[in-house]
Amino acid sequence: MSALSKFISENTIKGFLAEDEGEALFRYAQTIAEVGPCLEIGSYCGKSTVYLGEACKITHNTLYAVDHHRGSEEHQLGEEYHDSSLYDDDRQCIDSFPEFRKTVKLAGLDDTVVPVVATSILTVKHWATPLGMVFVDGGHSPQMSMDDCVKWSAKLAPGGILAVHDLFEKPEEGGQGPFLAFQQVMANGGFKKIDQVRSLGFLRKS
Ligand code: SAH
Ligand code: MG
Repeated sequence: MSALSKFISENTIKGFLAEDEGEALFRYAQTIAEVGPCLEIGSYCGKSTVYLGEACKITHNTLYAVDHHRGSEEHQLGEEYHDSSLYDDDRQCIDSFPEFRKTVKLAGLDDTVVPVVATSILTVKHWATPLGMVFVDGGHSPQMSMDDCVKWSAKLAPGGILAVHDLFEKPEEGGQGPFLAFQQVMANGGFKKIDQVRSLGFLRKS
């Protein structure tokens, strides 16, 4: 187990990412510092943020961490992945931002990570900086996955990497949104698949 994975398990950082998937994010994010900054959609409590952020810290790069922190459909009250400790009773909604900030500080990444507390679609609208790597792990509906993959992949610099989580080829394994969106980016051209670790796929832009 790497020091990074040890940090995550010892501090019980909540999240939805396998150890080897996190390590792959860490590895690839270190290779793109010369290409451009790194951006993730869907930070939740900061698990993927720590892997990507640590890679950016080492390479003097920056990670933009986009999440409205209101949770995806499956995190809402009564749904499968609801976590009552993240529920704001007064406002009656999920708020993962306090937990996210705690994780980023604990990991020593306050000077590396720029939290963007907003929807993906609002953030991408005027985004102009060519990116070195985009990690898509936000809303998993077919429409949201497609919007995120297509719109954000267009913001990558040549040589940049698109990583997409929760790719399930068969419907019985999980939702098809991310898988179909990943296939669409490849079909549109200009991207080549370079790796896959469990449900985490990597494409490189020509
Ligand atoms: N990458 C995280 C898990 C992300 S869970 C980890 O490593 O554990 C999905 C996250 O996407 C949730 O926190 C949810 O609030 C966020 N999300 C869902 N739809 C979104 C959207 N349209 N814009 C921004 N964030 C979104
Ligand atoms: Mg995921």
